[in-house]
Amino acid sequence: MKLLKEKILDEGVALSDTVLKVDHFLNHQIDPVLMVEIGKAFKERFASEKITKILTLESSGIAPSVMAGLEFGVPVIFARKRKSLTLSEGLLTSNVYSYTKQETNTIAVADKFLSDEDSVLIIDDFLANGEAAHALVDIVQQAGSDIAGIGIVIEKSFQSGGGKLRNAGHRVESLARIASLEDGKIEFLSEVHA
Ligand code: 5GP
Repeated sequence: MKLLKEKILDEGVALSDTVLKVDHFLNHQIDPVLMVEIGKAFKERFASEKITKILTLESSGIAPSVMAGLEFGVPVIFARKRKSLTLSEGLLTSNVYSYTKQETNTIAVADKFLSDEDSVLIIDDFLANGEAAHALVDIVQQAGSDIAGIGIVIEKSFQSGGGKLRNAGHRVESLARIASLEDGKIEFLSEVHA
């Protein structure tokens, strides 16, 4: 996705060989115009799929997911990372190990929002080692829903997540795929969807 790649080059910062900071438009300050375009891009990529719900993870997955939800005309659910006073029973949970934070978090979704009649598009901001996406897949499977696909805003293709999810048979569509962040230089994978 051209606009996203331009944003990443203009405003993204390679903090190290493995971590990209994009807090100007996605992870802290949010660019609404870009989010609208991201929603349209996900709609285009998954146009042939039957989708009844979108599932993401708080907090950075919410903005792109809501815009995609608007395009598909379906509700958006975000898995919670923190325990909530109002969310205590009827939960589907899974564990996510974060390499960046070096800790394991339990994520939770109320089971009333997913059923065996749903076909779910999973969306997240970043795909690195695939831990977060794997936990969302786990929750969808516990609910007995189908997985229509996995939409990622920024995939770091040099890490293992994309390969693992694709090898497991999932359709993964990433709007920008980063080949390398070495020496502070952001390089994209060349791909069909520019
Ligand atoms: P994974 O679970 O695939 O290893 O990592 C994905 C999650 O970690 C994303 O939800 C995102 O919040 C965070 N993450 C992983 N790598 C990066 C990165 O390079 N930059 C930012 N901003 N977040 C990342």
